[in-house]
Amino acid sequence: MSHPFHVLKFRDGAPVPMKEEAIRAVLSSVTVDGLPGRGLPEWWNLRTRDGGEAEVYGDATCLSFTHVSGRLVLDRMAELARRTGAVVMPPDGPVLLQREHDRRHLPDGDLRAHAVVLPPAAWSGRAVEQAVRPLPEPPRRPALPRFAYHSGAGAVAPSDEPCVCCGQVRGWVYTGPVYGAEVPSGGICPYCIAFGKAAERYGVTFNDVIDGEVPDEVAREILERTPGIRSWQSPRWLTHCGDGAEFLGPAGAEELRHFPDAVEALRRKCGEWGWSAERVDAYLRALDADDQPTAHLFRCRACGTHLAWSDFT
Ligand SMILES: [Zn+2]
Ligand SMILES: [Zn+2]
Repeated sequence: MSHPFHVLKFRDGAPVPMKEEAIRAVLSSVTVDGLPGRGLPEWWNLRTRDGGEAEVYGDATCLSFTHVSGRLVLDRMAELARRTGAVVMPPDGPVLLQREHDRRHLPDGDLRAHAVVLPPAAWSGRAVEQAVRPLPEPPRRPALPRFAYHSGAGAVAPSDEPCVCCGQVRGWVYTGPVYGAEVPSGGICPYCIAFGKAAERYGVTFNDVIDGEVPDEVAREILERTPGIRSWQSPRWLTHCGDGAEFLGPAGAEELRHFPDAVEALRRKCGEWGWSAERVDAYLRALDADDQPTAHLFRCRACGTHLAWSDFT
């Protein structure tokens, strides 16, 4: 910050001097080589124990702080204003007042209109810093589109980049697999998946293999308008009761304890491959929601049965 902060005291529209004793009391201890016994130098350097620095110039009527760094320098500046009844004028942002009463003493209408009162309890370097560089509001992300066959879990990440397909900043980007010859290089938003726009535009799908027979319309919904499953092998979309099942998310042994029906389905699958009971048990125990091998947990949309698939190695 090389533009200066000014600390000054206004009365009836004009600056009036601050008490020199107060200036010395607040700034002496952080002045490099100290302040002289009487009077104030034309300019001097501050250094605080957090490594912060500033150059100060001016006189008792207006002290300017330039090249300001560090919270403690701002604390000193705030303390100076507090002790002298001055206001702080940051390089950007409104004049900071300690009392509403001080507003009418400011010299012009614009300053008066925009000045901000920081209550005495909040009067600190931190408050000054926030007034100059307001903390960004946590971004509010729009609700995700509703997918009939996917809970949405783990398929998107927050993003402030525009979607490569619709060009809009939707607050989310799809992070799952994309299958096709012309996979776009940028991120696709989940709305372009839900509305089928991305599939149509790029000729891609987001899922590849459906495990079982479902009506064509269901297959298209799952392949073209449903987020895919991240997996290091080729994942399968499970079906039940003649419909695609809903994907609930990745699951490990811990998560699957609550879904014995899904564990049974996995055990049957392993059994079909001629694995020994010991090998199956060891495999099921090793399942991890965040690491290989992972199970993919589904629920039948019709009967509620839980199902799971895994990358059987
Ligand atoms: Zn989009
Ligand atoms: Zn079912």
